[in-house]
Amino acid sequence: MAKKHNQVVRVAIQRPLYKLLDYTWDLLTPPDIGCRIKVPLGNTQITAIIVETNVESNVAQLKSVISCIDSQPLFDEHMLSILKWASRYYFYPIGEVLFHALPVALRKERQLPKLSLWSASAYAHDLDDSELKRSPKQYALLQLLKAKECDQHELRKAIGNNWKNLLRQLEKKKLISRREVNDTGLSYWQEAHNQKDAETLAKHPIQLTQEQQRCVTAIRDAFQKKNCKPVLLHGITGSGKTEVYLRSIEPTIEAGKQVLVLVPEIGLTPQLLFRFKEHFPQLKIVSLHSGLNPKQRLQNWLGAKSGIIDIVIGTRSAVFTQMKKLGAIIIDEEHDPSFKQQEGFLYQGRDVAIKRAHQLAIPILLGSATPSLESLYNIEQQGYLYLRLGNRPGKRLLPQMSIQDTRQLTLEAGISSLLMKEIRQHIENNQQVMLFLNRRGFAPVLMCPSCGWHAVCHQCDIGMTYHATARKIICHHCGLEEKVKPVCPDCGSNRLTTQGQGTERIEQVLMTHFPHTPVIRIDRDSTSRKGSLEKKLEIVQAGDPVILIGTQMLTKGHDFPNLTLVGILDIDQSLFSMDFRAQERLAQQIIQVAGRAGRGDIKGRVVLQSSQPEHPLLLNILSLGYYQTALNILNERKLWSYPPYGAQALIRVSCNRAEAGYNFLSKLQEALRGFSMQREEYQEQNQITLLGPIPSPLAKKANRYRFQLLLSATQRGILHYFLREALVLLLSYKKTGGIRWAIDVDPSDFL
Ligand code: ADP
Ligand code: ZN
Ligand code: ZN
Repeated sequence: MAKKHNQVVRVAIQRPLYKLLDYTWDLLTPPDIGCRIKVPLGNTQITAIIVETNVESNVAQLKSVISCIDSQPLFDEHMLSILKWASRYYFYPIGEVLFHALPVALRKERQLPKLSLWSASAYAHDLDDSELKRSPKQYALLQLLKAKECDQHELRKAIGNNWKNLLRQLEKKKLISRREVNDTGLSYWQEAHNQKDAETLAKHPIQLTQEQQRCVTAIRDAFQKKNCKPVLLHGITGSGKTEVYLRSIEPTIEAGKQVLVLVPEIGLTPQLLFRFKEHFPQLKIVSLHSGLNPKQRLQNWLGAKSGIIDIVIGTRSAVFTQMKKLGAIIIDEEHDPSFKQQEGFLYQGRDVAIKRAHQLAIPILLGSATPSLESLYNIEQQGYLYLRLGNRPGKRLLPQMSIQDTRQLTLEAGISSLLMKEIRQHIENNQQVMLFLNRRGFAPVLMCPSCGWHAVCHQCDIGMTYHATARKIICHHCGLEEKVKPVCPDCGSNRLTTQGQGTERIEQVLMTHFPHTPVIRIDRDSTSRKGSLEKKLEIVQAGDPVILIGTQMLTKGHDFPNLTLVGILDIDQSLFSMDFRAQERLAQQIIQVAGRAGRGDIKGRVVLQSSQPEHPLLLNILSLGYYQTALNILNERKLWSYPPYGAQALIRVSCNRAEAGYNFLSKLQEALRGFSMQREEYQEQNQITLLGPIPSPLAKKANRYRFQLLLSATQRGILHYFLREALVLLLSYKKTGGIRWAIDVDPSDFL
């Protein structure tokens, strides 16, 4: 009789629990770290993941594991250790982190998919086939199965949709046999992969510029070193960074390793996927993001895990993809704020990737035209390698940028008459134009001029945006929608008007000015339907004159060769933001938007409209460029010990009653102050400061009152020391009034 493996395992469950649980293992198979199991919890059963075996538990009366779901681990040792690190670093429950890293299809009890393989039975081999000649289809299928073992994907491809029927008939005659194997994702990839597509990908080899070649050589050299430091590729917009990525990873690929590429937004995956496939037609390349259906995600994940997929191109969450032989990581647009997750598990995908690369001792390449201040800081402090691409290939030049003082000009929907004239010129010259405005909807204010009423979200106490297409007012913070009433709810006046502009209004105005030119709006509202963004981008790619209007969705990575004029509208608000990151963000945004112009052979032009034409930030960007401007901002941060010189965390609380939230955080703040008093060394040198509790800038959201406490420390170690104490305190406090709290380490905004 098989021996039972009597021992204790330590597991993480999918609950907001900051600890691991111990269970006894009385099953016949041995336990394996990284496998999912079913365990009892209270009077229910729950899925868990084994993180330790052979544990010496000091808990009396342990319960037993009910059953094992997986026959092979879902995470290897490296992945588990990076996930444990992320849980500790971001103070997020370990079980939630582990399950977050799995494809949705595997978060429940569903087993890893198996693949059935069919072949001709021994009986079939002995048989005289002539009996089957009367049913030629069955005969053909049997011949196939005699020649080779096939799975369902191969059968469908060879036989067509009728394969199941035919198979059943052969099965009845005992002519075939079946066995099951672990699905590696290969078969699915082969079915989804279109060979014709791969062949028609026009592969026009690009001759690298000298500058690109120099970067490729430097990166390959660096990648070969043991424990290579991260490499930052600072290439101006349109300098051909993608081409450098492609060539730099060739040796990694040749060595049989996998590569993980992260991009900030789903919209960027198709074009990158295309360019990678074009360059490596012989490789298996897939994308991983939330736009795929659960089956695609599971299969692509399986392919990455089993090692049959060579390159994974994914968004933030793909950083947690289990990969069998990961050899390098690339982060495109590494500065992009979207790498930070803003809900639930608050992690920074780029930072996790850097940690993962370090732990695996594999190279990581960060690319951007506007590197984050963190990365610029790390060049100096951590010895990151800095490489620069300062030119666009060919004779293409960076666009010429100028500020237009809007105080002197008449504006229509926020567009100056001068800019309008330029738009007309470019359209008449058969070129494309893009206008950038970071506000969707028609207008941010709907108001009554008679009594001063204006539309406010009663759940957030903040103005609602008027959306003309939907004929609604919508709260951009909680999503509340209301039909627009014909009259003022306060005084009954029927003269309701709007103030300010959003992308919809600009679209409308431009359509009347340019009735014969397509006006294409790209924002969250206009691209919510699946495939609609791709469709719009295709029209632009075709190259005919169009006017593009968009929010920050448009600023990232797109390459529109016939775009020659970019107008940047309404940035004045960001110039006076309280957030110390606002300057960095705005500089990046301006450079990125501007960089969409002049990517073809005609020099581009960028018009920056502002009522603050003398603002130092704008003047710096224009005269010094991004790099020097960024270094200046970095110097200011140093003076104030702001990140990346210091480290910060926000403790956020929300609740149904304002008072309860405030009291909850005050109690924490006092306890933490007491804690720091006992540690004089921190007090005397001002190594940690607590700011708050204060109401969050968005003080109420979806009927919940919000407060925050900011911890700033001169060193990360000190910050985490205090956060560990804060966590213990938070877990010990009773939660009244529907209190929810979250720890946001390295917060990227204070909203
Ligand atoms: P970036 O990501 O740096 O903004 P891309 O990689 O999108 O720039 O490249 C911009 C354009 O320049 C693309 O159309 C690309 O095909 C082209 N390109 C890149 N390298 C070269 C080269 N060496 N010669 C000619 N064209 C190039
Ligand atoms: Zn009114
Ligand atoms: Zn709201």
